[in-house]
Amino acid sequence: MTFLNQKYQNLTPYTPGEQVNEQEYIKLNTNESPYPPAPAVQKAVVEASHSLNRYSDIAVEVVAKPLAQYLGVKKEQLFLGNGSDEVLSYVFQGFTEKGIAFPDVTYGFYQVYSGLYQVDATVVPLKSDFSLELKDYDELSGTVIFANPNAPTGIQLAQGEICEFIERHPNRLVVVDEAYIDFGGESMVSLVDRYPNLLVVGTFSKSRQLAGARLGFGVGNEELIADMNRLRFSLNPYNVNSLTQAAGGAVLQEQEYVDQKIQETIQAREWSKLELTKLGFEQTDSQGNFLFAKHPNIAGETLFTALREKKILVRWFNQPRTKDFLRITVGTQEQMEQLVTALTTILEEVDA
Ligand code: PMP
Repeated sequence: MTFLNQKYQNLTPYTPGEQVNEQEYIKLNTNESPYPPAPAVQKAVVEASHSLNRYSDIAVEVVAKPLAQYLGVKKEQLFLGNGSDEVLSYVFQGFTEKGIAFPDVTYGFYQVYSGLYQVDATVVPLKSDFSLELKDYDELSGTVIFANPNAPTGIQLAQGEICEFIERHPNRLVVVDEAYIDFGGESMVSLVDRYPNLLVVGTFSKSRQLAGARLGFGVGNEELIADMNRLRFSLNPYNVNSLTQAAGGAVLQEQEYVDQKIQETIQAREWSKLELTKLGFEQTDSQGNFLFAKHPNIAGETLFTALREKKILVRWFNQPRTKDFLRITVGTQEQMEQLVTALTTILEEVDA
């Protein structure tokens, strides 16, 4: 027997990457940062814990003020959410009356939210090299959403192409999910004043070491943000809890630490790309904090399982176009060296 409304009974929920004991595994499966948060974060969270008897600040001032300054926008152009997943959920819930379109190979939650909110979603195939061609969206109507750089491919789309699309379609909302922008690519944030139909979505989960805190944001025209807040205040005005607010505020005072870790990740990514190429892998030129790679002789699932046996966890998607690929989060340089060693052994075993 089920008490669930009929319309939700066939929902296919999102499958998150496994969270495992890190003493046992090298965890390269969920595109988190391998580094702990900046030291000031812990102190700020402990301090904030003394006021947990009070509701959190609905204006999220401690984050909104420095974040607006960092991004060069007004506070009124910022929306703070419980992870960028929540920001995205409001997009699918509230801004899709004329439908929404997104690529076939992209962040899995776009499809999940389309199902949840029963949105008319058009899935547009990426080109054979996994590149995104915005002209493919010209004949459609409604909202467009894509990640830049895309996930799981890491491929980046040039800013000029996005601007041209936005200008061709002033009456369609264009949502650019910039979860990975700090690792490569050019942010669209500086263009929100120019384009009222642009919403940029960002997160503290990747480059700012706060995946577990759940803090994401949207940047757009003031009217658009006010509309998003209308939804938020109709569901949960306290969507960003006080500990997360404290963590977010603190990390924004530690930009030097964040920038240093971004550089370390980029260096480890580029090193790993070269090593994987030497091992015969084919890859996209990922600009994210992850690699997207396949080996011509070994199935993705086989590699995934073999790595798992060696206590290295990566992500494998059992989807027609991507089943031969692994998405490998860029860990520390040391972790990536261990990955390359493991892959070398696995390939030798296959050859033998
Ligand atoms: N967008 C993309 C493209 C992602 O890959 C992810 C997380 N993996 C998110 C959004 C959501 O991130 P969060 O909710 O942690 O901000």
